[in-house]
Amino acid sequence: MEIVVLRLGHRPERDKRVTTHVGLVGRAFGANGMLLASNDKGIERSIREVTSRWGGDFFVRTGVNWKEEVTNWKREEGKVCHLTMYGENILDVINEVRAKSERIMIIVGAEKVPYDVFEAADWNIAAGNQPHSEIAALCLFLDYLQQGKELKEKFDNAKLEIVPKRRGKELKKKINE
Ligand code: SAM
Repeated sequence: MEIVVLRLGHRPERDKRVTTHVGLVGRAFGANGMLLASNDKGIERSIREVTSRWGGDFFVRTGVNWKEEVTNWKREEGKVCHLTMYGENILDVINEVRAKSERIMIIVGAEKVPYDVFEAADWNIAAGNQPHSEIAALCLFLDYLQQGKELKEKFDNAKLEIVPKRRGKELKKKINE
């Protein structure tokens, strides 16, 4: 499955940490990359640093035009899921989403999302109908979509890998840094 996260409404002066976490959660839980509808190279850099140490090939592309990205995605048989507390409950639609596409774009907002996004999406999906956070909504969506498989995923070309332990910390250095 190909999964891309589109982050809308990022305000460089206040959303750096949350947007970085949207990217880190996307990377850790099975997305292939993040598109950012804002031109903040700092986000790109910090996520790339994590990827270079912890592996995988997660990409970040900034300064995108969201309408163009959505149009191109849909033209190439992709489906679009917009995460919003106003949407249908994830439990009611996730099987349909999984069955209908191998290419999924997930849109998450920061401030108020333009109404066009609700119209452009194939599904408007709520991780529960209460207001909370784009990070939590993305994490839950990715997990339900992949039915937990992402939690055991290994990352290629990692320089560092954790050896899971009941107590203590063990870090394996796989390639000389
Ligand atoms: N007040 C904004 C609005 O009315 O669109 C929402 C701000 S919220 C902090 C930022 C993002 O978190 C939303 O755009 C949405 O993607 C996500 N989000 C928050 N609660 C959610 C929920 N219950 N289900 C799905 N996504 C949610």
